[in-house]
Amino acid sequence: MHLIILGAPGSGKGTQAVRIKERYGLAHISTGDILRAEVAAGSELGRRAKAVMDAGQLVGDDIVLAMVGKRLAQPDCVRGWILDGFPRTRAQAEGLGRLLAGADLDVDLGLLIQVQPEEVIRRLSGRRVNRASGRIYSREELIHLADATGEIPAAGAAPEGGDFYQRDDDKADTIRDRLAVYEEQTRPVIDYYENHDKVVRIDGAQPMERVTDAIFSILRDRFGSRESA
Ligand code: AMP
Repeated sequence: MHLIILGAPGSGKGTQAVRIKERYGLAHISTGDILRAEVAAGSELGRRAKAVMDAGQLVGDDIVLAMVGKRLAQPDCVRGWILDGFPRTRAQAEGLGRLLAGADLDVDLGLLIQVQPEEVIRRLSGRRVNRASGRIYSREELIHLADATGEIPAAGAAPEGGDFYQRDDDKADTIRDRLAVYEEQTRPVIDYYENHDKVVRIDGAQPMERVTDAIFSILRDRFGSRESA
């Protein structure tokens, strides 16, 4: 199974990708996670990427394509994969197509999670990340910490221990830039896969569990009930 998960920042792609990975035993490849790990490690790539990421802009296509090419060559990808946050431009989609053609592979399906922009802003500005595990807490999970204006603190104690923080690019100004980038640069990716008849749409405004059920039902119809052990 070779999947991509599409949708605006904050549409719930990452959460759903982890669930799909667990259910079907796929490799979960999130270019955002790979880039954040490079930033945390202080690598040359991380240093160059950080400024771009903090501004809500996209890291160069060549860099991201090389990163994904390297990751797809790792042994766990043989059982199938789900790409999350990639491709984000038409050039990346075309580059991925070339990479896969070399291995006689193709994207089987693109899952597009649709959420209105107002909801995306609400979710991103309220979400926090566990510094140690990377787990994301939604506004709803942290609402008890909110002050009278409904603002959740940027940092604090995480429900499962450790601490949480707000991603620099989840701050209000950057969210707007990320959404603009999504509309301009990532929408064409949806058109690209739609032209190849590979896109299924899922209503991402439903509760997370319902979104997961909808995705599993689509995958069952297309691929049967293969699950990881
Ligand atoms: P994400 O966690 O997917 O929202 O990604 C966070 C940031 O990493 C993005 O706003 C971009 O700056 C960068 N990034 C992640 N994936 C890509 C990609 N496929 N192409 C370019 N930049 C990316």
